[in-house]
Amino acid sequence: MIAIVLFGKPGAGKGTQAEFLKEKYNLTHISTGDVFRYNLKNGTELGKQAKVFMDRAELVPDSITIDMLADEVEKNMDKAGFLFDGFPRTIQQAEALEALLKEKNIRFVGTVGLEANDDVLVQRILERGKTSGRADDQDEKIIRSRYEEYNEKTAPLIDYYTGKNCYNSVDGIGTVEEITTRLSGVIDRLI
Ligand code: AMP
Repeated sequence: MIAIVLFGKPGAGKGTQAEFLKEKYNLTHISTGDVFRYNLKNGTELGKQAKVFMDRAELVPDSITIDMLADEVEKNMDKAGFLFDGFPRTIQQAEALEALLKEKNIRFVGTVGLEANDDVLVQRILERGKTSGRADDQDEKIIRSRYEEYNEKTAPLIDYYTGKNCYNSVDGIGTVEEITTRLSGVIDRLI
């Protein structure tokens, strides 16, 4: 089995692209944001724990997120591998992922980062907020807070993965099809 990390700021297009890539490469798509939202909607204990942080546009603590991710991996060992979206978001999560993949004998093929400028992304998220029903997509102040969290805790992962020679950046501006083609080109080279 293989694992690919789809990396990028909120609004970079990770979720949209994951829909195509998971079919093309027969991967289980795990979006930690989607799993948290599912739990929130269903009022589970995990959902209640995560809500406090999500409402404040902060990251959910690593201990909660890492356990949840490990459960999702455990439940989905039936495809050719995994496409992670929105995880890891901290160095501690990246280290936990590395240990988990090793334990499960899953080959980490690399990180593909979708790059785009903040102003373009904020506009995209506000647009998405009109239909996504996500409160955190509808308020520019909350969106900006998510970027602050990203810059402080998640951006260091670019250096982390570059240092391990497994960060691949892809231009995230263009049509959905153009970006899928760019991503597939990189993934085909990696796998
Ligand atoms: P997303 O859908 O990826 O934008 O995530 C929505 C919210 O879920 C984030 O603002 C965080 O509060 C939480 N979240 C999602 N993934 C993670 C993660 N890997 N670590 C911590 N919090 C997360």
